[in-house]
Amino acid sequence: MNRKNVLIVLAAISFLSACKGETNKMKEFDTNEKAVFAQARKEMIDAQIKRRGVKDERVLEAMFKVERHKFVPQTAQTLAYDDYPLPIGEGQTISQPYIVALMTELLQLKGNEKVLEIGTGSGYQAAILAELAKEVYTIEILESLAINAEKILRELNYGNVTVKCGDGYLGWKEHAPFDGIIVTCAPPYIPQPLIEQLAEGGRMVIPVGVYYQELKLLKKINGKIKTTDIIPVRFVPMTRENDKE
Ligand code: SAH
Repeated sequence: MNRKNVLIVLAAISFLSACKGETNKMKEFDTNEKAVFAQARKEMIDAQIKRRGVKDERVLEAMFKVERHKFVPQTAQTLAYDDYPLPIGEGQTISQPYIVALMTELLQLKGNEKVLEIGTGSGYQAAILAELAKEVYTIEILESLAINAEKILRELNYGNVTVKCGDGYLGWKEHAPFDGIIVTCAPPYIPQPLIEQLAEGGRMVIPVGVYYQELKLLKKINGKIKTTDIIPVRFVPMTRENDKE
């Protein structure tokens, strides 16, 4: 091998080993990042969720498993486990972790249910539901958010979630009745189609109100609705198709 070729081979080897080093460094970085986010999730569950009284072990496990930082914009990832809602674009927000946990616990999911969510937003609540129920149907009125949520849910292999872009006020008649309905935007009153699409023995969790909002739990027992007020909350308003510009 002449000198020129040796230099070429050496350069190639050092280039390749540098690349390998970079890959290892990236892997190391990914592993560290995963561990840091997992620790943040653990702290979120202890300090924000358990401490405020959420006890359902399945809900706590799902909140630990689902990587909330993957559902927020890249620039907000380090804030994903903090105790407040975060912007997700289009003037909308992903709910505070505690509120997600509380609303999910109120549905008392055991694993076999069909659940409807109104207000897909980032898709995070849908992923939590997908961990706990059999089938999840979720409706988002803003197309760009529906597309993003569907993409991330598909990437994370949530094959039991179906996303649709539309007006959730009307529910999703084709798949009704639902054992659980969770509404993550606030209408001024409880939409009648949602009451009709709730299964016998089913539960609906919904924030209701304009300036003052109350989180309500509805249960359908022998065809009658029993309503309980849970806590005051603050959600983005439920908009209707004709509210869009
Ligand atoms: N559950 C979401 C948070 C959603 S914020 C999450 O986990 O990220 C509320 C969402 O409800 C917003 O994205 C908003 O666009 C949507 N929304 C408002 N009115 C709606 C309607 N009539 N039907 C469906 N979605 C609606």
